[in-house]
Amino acid sequence: MEPIHMVDLKGQYSFIADEVKAALDGVIESTAFINGPAVKDFQANLEAYLGVKHVIPCANGTDALQIALMGLKLQPGDEVITADFTFAATVEVISLLRLKPVLVDVDPKTFNINPEAIEAAITLKTKAIIPVHLFGQTADMEAINAIADKHKLFVVEDNAQGIGATYNYKDGRKVKTGGLSHVAATSFFPSKNLGAYGDGGAIFTNDDELAHFIRGIVNHGMYERYYHDVVGVNSRLDAMQAAILNVKLKYLDYYNERRKEAAIRYTTLLKDHPNIITPYREAACSSHVFHQYTLRIIHHDRDGLVKYLNENDIPCGVYYPVPLHRQKAYIDPTVSEDDFPVTNQLVKEVISLPMHSELTVDQIEHIAAKVMAYLG
Ligand SMILES: *Cc1c(COP(=O)(O)O)cnc(C)c1O
Repeated sequence: MEPIHMVDLKGQYSFIADEVKAALDGVIESTAFINGPAVKDFQANLEAYLGVKHVIPCANGTDALQIALMGLKLQPGDEVITADFTFAATVEVISLLRLKPVLVDVDPKTFNINPEAIEAAITLKTKAIIPVHLFGQTADMEAINAIADKHKLFVVEDNAQGIGATYNYKDGRKVKTGGLSHVAATSFFPSKNLGAYGDGGAIFTNDDELAHFIRGIVNHGMYERYYHDVVGVNSRLDAMQAAILNVKLKYLDYYNERRKEAAIRYTTLLKDHPNIITPYREAACSSHVFHQYTLRIIHHDRDGLVKYLNENDIPCGVYYPVPLHRQKAYIDPTVSEDDFPVTNQLVKEVISLPMHSELTVDQIEHIAAKVMAYLG
């Protein structure tokens, strides 16, 4: 059996090496390193894939979130509601823009932001909600958008972990994540489901006016060369990264299918153990792209399992070990621990197993057997 990796970028590369090298050669020969045809092609291909009107590439996923919020012209002190259980970038950009992050608890089944908790947190100052499609599972967008409509709030999807997932409306409509809100952000960090070989990100919207405004923001607030209408930033997707992403986008559905197969296999092997809760998924499984395969270890020693797996050459991760409301940078003394029973429980129980498109059946069976061996 090959050594097990948390993500296997080398194995994945070996299947597309010729295509990637040709694409990079093309960029080098063209010398169009900034905003050249490679970036334009990728933008157009991603728009077509997602079914969104506008993709605006930028330098990374954190920038994408920040720029999306800048595009909404929120004012200092405006409140933005997001999940307590997510990667810090989501809340970081809110604070950076002098907006007020309002963290709310998540759903124990999906790990995604709890719509009831959103509703309870709304004040006269609330302006936006940022749902995160955590670990690749779509957030409850119908409920979230209904709350947003009722209270006239913006919704900004953090789609860094969910690219390629489909949200299934109750009436049967299907929409890809990133096209379910006013504006969305994604990341092309190498380990994401659509990963570059360096940093990258993008903003999505179906709103023409907002897209135009954001295209200026990413380029120093310029709408006409050397005329700066708003305070912007410099945030670009590198042409080399765009060329690589253009190759990998063709395989995104394949990669996500392989992740789902791996997830289903893990679940079949692990689901009956009394100390394990396997990840929730809808029957069709289209609404989860398994950026992570995350178990809850209940009434047992999660940290002991992490140690045991590592000792057995099985990498694993704890995403995330500390709820955002307890991170030093984001502590708000007016907030009560009682508001976060689910997140406080999840941080003690979650463990993410190796998950990528190159996992073999042998590897999955070996990992599952070791998990069971430890739990007894
Ligand atoms: C990765 C990630 C980001 C940030 O993306 P970068 O490209 O690393 O800046 C933001 N939000 C979530 C949920 C992420 O997983």
